[in-house]
Order: sequence, then C-alpha cells, then structure tokens
Amino acid sequence: MQKEIQQAWYKNSKDRVGCTLKKEHILIPEPSSKFQKVSCNECKEENIVYSHASSEITCKSCGNVIAEPTGAVANIHGKVLGSVE
Ligand SMILES: [Zn+2]
Repeated sequence: MQKEIQQAWYKNSKDRVGCTLKKEHILIPEPSSKFQKVSCNECKEENIVYSHASSEITCKSCGNVIAEPTGAVANIHGKVLGSVE
C-alpha cells in the first residue's frame, strides 16, 4: 500500500515537471508585442510598460518619461527587467 502511494506521488510530480517544461516553452520570447517590467531611471520604481505603447508612458512614482511611442516598438528609457506574463 505504501509503495502504491509513493508511485502515485512520483507520477504526479513527473506530471508537474512536464507542465512546467511546457509552460517554459510557451514563454520563450518571440512575440512582437508584450508587457515589460521597466525600472525607472530616476527613482528605480518598477513600471509595467507595453512594448508597443502608442502614447507616452510616465513613471507611476515620479512622472519621468519611461517609454516614448515611435509607431512601432516604444523607446524604453529605463532598465528592462523582463517581460510580464
Ligand atoms: Zn520614477
């Protein structure tokens, strides 16, 4: 009985690993538009910025412009920390 439970647990954890790998595969960056975490140059506040923002994005904390629209991918003025799911 104990052994059966262990096997079931092992199978479950294997399934979970499979799911994680699958998710990571989907997250490989290649989409043309996405949301990014950008750290403000002035105050280091983290802001969520759309990569194709069509209007100026200002820091929610200090008002510094952190993204400028260009018609395509916005110009990011700050440190990109990563993309947001
Ligand atoms: Zn700021």
